[in-house]
Amino acid sequence: MKVLITGGAGFIGSHLADAYIARGDEVYVLDDLSTGSIENIAHLKSESRFHYTIDSVQNIPVLAELVDTCDVIFHMAAAVGVKLIVESPVRTIETNVRGTEAVLAAANKKKKRVLIASTSEVYGLSTEIPFREDGNLVLGATNKGRWSYACSKAIDEFLALAYWREKKLPTIVVRLFNTVGPRQTGQYGMVIPTLVKQALAGRPLTVYGTGKQTRCFGYVGDVVKALVSLMDQEGATGDLFNIGSSEEVSINDVAQRILALTSSQSEIVYVPYDEAYEHGFEDMPRRVPDTRKLQALIGFAPKTNLDTILKSVIDHYSRS
Ligand code: UDP
Repeated sequence: MKVLITGGAGFIGSHLADAYIARGDEVYVLDDLSTGSIENIAHLKSESRFHYTIDSVQNIPVLAELVDTCDVIFHMAAAVGVKLIVESPVRTIETNVRGTEAVLAAANKKKKRVLIASTSEVYGLSTEIPFREDGNLVLGATNKGRWSYACSKAIDEFLALAYWREKKLPTIVVRLFNTVGPRQTGQYGMVIPTLVKQALAGRPLTVYGTGKQTRCFGYVGDVVKALVSLMDQEGATGDLFNIGSSEEVSINDVAQRILALTSSQSEIVYVPYDEAYEHGFEDMPRRVPDTRKLQALIGFAPKTNLDTILKSVIDHYSRS
């Protein structure tokens, strides 16, 4: 199979490329390196079944040719990371909306199966824990930059599902919950790489807010297995799936575990959200996926627990 991965030099996209190369397939990556990195795919460059193009998904002729060449498409290219979103909302909205429009239009011309990566951010301030795919999305006010990300990805979801309903383009939408592992950068705000780097450098660990907010961290290897299975599964077409771990943990607990696993002497400092992001920033107190739908279709169960994930990230940053 020939697989096109937009955002294939990014954190999740590059692990997805690894999985298809390991399976014996041919991989085409399209990435503009805006948040991705050539280092993430450097180890694949010598592989004859691996091809990459450094360009934007909004370069329509380049995109069209790659879509034509490939059998299936993963659209992973997006502006991600709360810090980046808050600092660059125009870039976030335009990248996410225009990029997905371009990919879906190109895929539709050739009727190629396409998976669109969305995010658990779309659940926003919903308190209906665990979040189900058919639950309400509760977005905050439009003067709070954070919500532009959720809204841009929600539009991507509507568009992908509309292409299936109206034009019979085989689309799949996934909502990725906090995904972590080697190669994730802390540059755009993600908590685990940020705290691990701080602990290894002996700098204070920055916990935002009270640290009592919780997340479920899924291992990138488990998430990639789910993505590959969904692409193979006819029954996933025209549907929407949460992908994530159900191990709920507070950010305080994450910080403590990182200190213990790195034997770091760093202290924990509490940074108010206003200072960490922007005035009036809203965080979600809990974010937990309901993954029963994914479990029923592909038998998904995350295998990697948080300590193992943290060790893999610590190992990655200890070596780099
Ligand atoms: N966070 C933190 N310290 C940091 C970065 C993030 O305490 O240096 C918090 C952040 O406010 C959020 C949680 O960790 O409550 C997860 O943040 P991340 O950006 O990784 O993902 P999010 O769940 O916000 O998309």
